[in-house]
Amino acid sequence: MPHASNFLLGQLAPATLSRLAPHLSVVDLAAAEVIAEPHQRIQRVYFPHSGIISCIVELADGSTIETGMIGRDGVFGASQALDDKVSLNLVTMQIGGRASVIPPERLRALASDMPDFKALLVKYEQFFLAQVQQTAACNAVHDIDARTCKWLARMHDLAGPDLLLTQEFFARMMGVRRTSVTTVAGALQDAGLISYSRGRLHIADIEQIRKRACECDDAVRSHFRRVFAPAETDTQKDRCV
Ligand SMILES: [Zn+2]
Repeated sequence: MPHASNFLLGQLAPATLSRLAPHLSVVDLAAAEVIAEPHQRIQRVYFPHSGIISCIVELADGSTIETGMIGRDGVFGASQALDDKVSLNLVTMQIGGRASVIPPERLRALASDMPDFKALLVKYEQFFLAQVQQTAACNAVHDIDARTCKWLARMHDLAGPDLLLTQEFFARMMGVRRTSVTTVAGALQDAGLISYSRGRLHIADIEQIRKRACECDDAVRSHFRRVFAPAETDTQKDRCV
């Protein structure tokens, strides 16, 4: 079943997923597509199969920084749907992909009828909050070299070694000037860990990238395992975080 390409939907009992499936549709999402605007009601809840959704804080001076990343291991919009809240951040597709989507009011009604589904969504929100808190600490304390490697490691886990992204976009996610990204990317390229050409970044040595990363990616993986431990197999852990 294609919906089970998303880790959370894949965790559901077959009977629960069968009840949910008629209300889900599968959509393709382009890179840079806006998923939610700040302070607007969300239109759909997204369970990605591939690609990466990025939650971005925009400041008054025009600068931006990414505070959360959602891939096939997660969902965007479930907490807003359950509580009928608006999105706090700008949310865009960082890497294009495919997702199962459902209208928020439909998700809310189904979750109230299916406690196991609602419990799974609440668990993910616990994890996502932990990820955002870790990212806040990371952005405040860790240097750009370590943060860049952490970010690349997470991107590699969610989207593989070949990434379509510009240095401008990279800088916006990291909350730094483009010249800083150019310097860091140049050093990683000189060391043979990445190659970069015309908006296409290839991660050539993920083990070295992980060694240079700060501890935050490992911390986020640990949060994920703690939250989902009871229902998770080792294979799924390796695949999804
Ligand atoms: Zn960090």
